Amino acid sequence: MSTCIGGPSVDDYAGIRIKYATLDPDNVWRSLKCELHTDNMFKQRCKLCVRLMNISRAMKSNIQLSLKLNRKKRLGPTLTPTRTETPKHLFKTKHNTQKSNLRKDSIIQTLKLKFNELKSKMELVSNSYVDDLHKSMNVNESQCFD
Ligand SMILES: [Zn+2]
Repeated sequence: MSTCIGGPSVDDYAGIRIKYATLDPDNVWRSLKCELHTDNMFKQRCKLCVRLMNISRAMKSNIQLSLKLNRKKRLGPTLTPTRTETPKHLFKTKHNTQKSNLRKDSIIQTLKLKFNELKSKMELVSNSYVDDLHKSMNVNESQCFD
């Protein structure tokens, strides 16, 4: 016979509360009906603490399972049609905005080109105007001289 070491440790089974067990000073759950010794010296735990281990293991896997399910549930709504519609719609809007931005850019480019064209035309016109003016002045001058 040897002393029962108790059930599961709190560290291994965090978040698990066992009604019919008490917490040992070394943070180990021990059955309220712990036999305090084992019926076999090769065993570390009494029957009841072994049962506590099994129960805790089951509780832990249940908690993990429910966490998994909750995660799935939380992911669930994003897969509904209304929610999936939003990103597509947003993408569409973004795409359209980019498109219209591109269109604006091309309009600006065209306007710039037209402006440059006009500017150079105006320069030509003004040059020719000045030329004409000079000519006319010359003419005038010559007329004056005459
Ligand atoms: Zn025990």
